[in-house]
Amino acid sequence: MGTPQPVVRDSKAQMSHASSAPAPFLDLKAQYASIRKEVLHAVERVLESQQFILSKEVQLLESEIAQMAGAAAAVGCASGSDALFLALRALDVEAGDEVITTPFTFVATAGAIARTGARPVFVDIDPETFNLDPRLLGAAITTKTRAIIPVHLFGLPAEMEPILEIARQHGIALIEDAAQAIGATYKGTPVGSLGLFGCFSFFPSKNLGCAGDGGMVTTTEESLGDKLRLLRAHGSREKYSYEIMGVNSRLDSLQAAILRIKLSHLKEWEQQRIENADVYRGLIADYRLEEFVTPPAAPKYSEHVYNQFVIRCSDRSKLRLFLRERGFSTEIYYPSPLHLQPAFAYLKYSAGDFPASETACREVLALPIYPEITEEVQDSIIRTISQFYHSQL
Ligand SMILES: *Cc1c(COP(=O)(O)O)cnc(C)c1O
Repeated sequence: MGTPQPVVRDSKAQMSHASSAPAPFLDLKAQYASIRKEVLHAVERVLESQQFILSKEVQLLESEIAQMAGAAAAVGCASGSDALFLALRALDVEAGDEVITTPFTFVATAGAIARTGARPVFVDIDPETFNLDPRLLGAAITTKTRAIIPVHLFGLPAEMEPILEIARQHGIALIEDAAQAIGATYKGTPVGSLGLFGCFSFFPSKNLGCAGDGGMVTTTEESLGDKLRLLRAHGSREKYSYEIMGVNSRLDSLQAAILRIKLSHLKEWEQQRIENADVYRGLIADYRLEEFVTPPAAPKYSEHVYNQFVIRCSDRSKLRLFLRERGFSTEIYYPSPLHLQPAFAYLKYSAGDFPASETACREVLALPIYPEITEEVQDSIIRTISQFYHSQL
C-alpha cells in the first residue's frame, strides 16, 4: 500500500521544507514584525514618562482584562506562577490545607500550592480533554480541601459546571489556571470569571505574551481584588504601612504598555489559531491518519483557543525524530506527570496512581499552531507524518 494522497490539498503537497531552514515551532519574530511600530511607540511613551511601576499603563491593562474576562477586578503581577500564588494567599491558604489540581500541567500550578505550605492533591485528567476529570473529583475532597484549581490546558476550558457544582456543595473556592486560555469561553462565559479567581500568564509563548515575564489575577469579588492589590505590593496601601504580609510581585509598566498593543490584536490572532486547527483536522482526515493520530477534542461546551495543538500518536519518539530530520519542530507538553517528579516525591505518589495522565505523557505531541503559520507548512507537516506511518505498513 502506497502513501495515500490528500483528497483536497494535493497541489500544496509538492512543497518540501526539508532542504530549507527548519520550520519553527513558534515564530514570535513574524508576530513582532506585524506590530513593530505600535510596540516601539508604546515603549517610547513609557520611557518618556519614566513611570515604571504600577503606572496608568498597568491600571488601563487591568481594566481591559477585567472587562474581557467579565471579572469584577484584575490585578497585574510578576508572572502566571505568582498569579496562582497570590490567589491562594488571598484565600489565606496555608500549611495544613489541601488544594486539588491535576498532575498533567505545567509545574507552576502545583508549585504555587506548595509555596503556600499547603499540600497539592492530584486528581487525574479526562483522557479526551486532558483536563481535570470531574468524575474523579469528589473522592479527592477532604475536610482540609480549601481550593480546586482546574487548568484550562492547551487553551481548552475544563468542564466547569460539574466542577463548580462539587465546589459549591463543599464550600470550596475555585481558582482557574487560565495561563494557556486567555480569551477562551465555556458555554459563552469567558475564562477568568467562571471561578472566584482566574490566573493568567503573559510568558512569551502564551497567546498574549509580553517581552519577558508577567501575569494577572482576575476575581469576581471586588473585595478580593483589593486584597490581591495589597498582597502583590508588600501588603501596603500607604507608604511604609503594612496591613498584611505581602510580596513584591508587580507588573512592569513597559510590559503593560506592550500587552495593551497586543491585546488589541488578540481576537484576530486567536481566530487564526482556530482556523489553523481546522486546517490540521482536515489534513489528518485527508491523509487518512485517524488510525495513528488523535486530534485534540473540541467539546461543544468550550471554545478552544489553541495555545497548543496537541495530538496523541503512537511511536511518538520515532515520529518526532522523523519530523525533526525533515526540518519540522514539535514539542512535548508534558513528558512527565508532576506526581512522578523528584520535587513532588514528598507527596508519596507512585507510578500508576494517575493512569490517564501517565498515558498522556507518553503519547502527546504538540504541532506548531502559531497564527502566522502557513497552510503549506501545515500540509508538509501532516504529509510527513503520513509518510512516517504509511511507509511502515
Ligand atoms: C505558563 C503556565 C503557568 C505559569 O506562568 P508563568 O508566567 O510562566 O509563571 C502556570 N500554569 C500553566 C498551565 C501554564 O501554562
